[in-house]
This record gives sequence, C-alpha cells and structure tokens, in this order.
Amino acid sequence: MGGKALDWPELEGIPEGYYAVLDPADPTTVTYWRRVITARTDYLRPWPAKAWYGPPVPRRSDVPTERSARELFVATWSKTRRAYLDQVVAAIAAGPEAAARCFADLRSCCWSCGRPLHDETSRTLGIGPDCRRDMDPTLLARYCTPEVGRAHAAHLAELQAATAGQDTD
Ligand SMILES: [Zn+2]
Repeated sequence: MGGKALDWPELEGIPEGYYAVLDPADPTTVTYWRRVITARTDYLRPWPAKAWYGPPVPRRSDVPTERSARELFVATWSKTRRAYLDQVVAAIAAGPEAAARCFADLRSCCWSCGRPLHDETSRTLGIGPDCRRDMDPTLLARYCTPEVGRAHAAHLAELQAATAGQDTD
C-alpha cells in the first residue's frame, strides 16, 4: 500500500506518526502502523516495514491461471484487503492520540520480561538484549512482530480488567 492515498479520505484524520491498534480480524493481537506524509508519498503502512497484518498475500498456487477467473480472484482479494485496512484506519482515526500513546507505551517494554527497552533495535523487536541473546536473528525478524502483538494484546486486556475492577470497587 504505497503511493498517493487520494482515494482514501479517512486517512486525512490521522497525523504523521506511529500507532498501535487491536487487529480488526483478531482482537488477541495488536497491530502497528506508521503514517507518512511527504510531498511524494502519503500512506499508512505496517510497522516495522517488513510486517504484514490482515489478509495474507495469496500464494501463487492459489491464484487461478484462467484469465477471467484470475481477475475475479485478484479483485476479490483486493476488496477483502481494502476492507481490512479500512477497519484499521477507522480504529486509528477514532482516537489518533490514544493509538499513538498505545504505540509508545507498548514499545517501551520487553514483551518477554517487561523491563524497559532503551535502544532502537530493542524497541523495533519489542524485546531486550538479554531475552533475545539466544534467539536466531532470522527467526526473530520473522516471528517477533506477531509474538509481540499477542503479548501486547494480553497486556492491554489485563490493564482493562484491572481498570474495570477499580471502577466497581
Ligand atoms: Zn526482556
């Protein structure tokens, strides 16, 4: 999802920055997004740059070879993908400040041990140097984002439960 977002008026309500919202397709996971606005680009993209949320890109073997069937398949997938992204944009646009605060809060602690993260690499991975020491870097890059997302969703649920508990006391 790059290039001009001219056909996406809802994006207008979201300032540049980093955001965290629950995955519209899976509320047990948090997703992370970056809004970038420059003279040449205007987009909301998954964060970190290699992350992918929502309906996965179809495997080549899943795509029909016959032309009209392929066009229908691609159009249907694009629609599904766009519907997902619309939900993400709506969730962020509903409260950009809260989503930005959520990003900052969740990315400041190790998802494994909960200690504060101090450097940029640790914040990108969501895990501190001690906890990732024994992990294969390739595995880290591939699996950390969904892992972090699930840990963060569980953390948010705990916080909400705690807050709800306070309200009834
Ligand atoms: Zn840790």
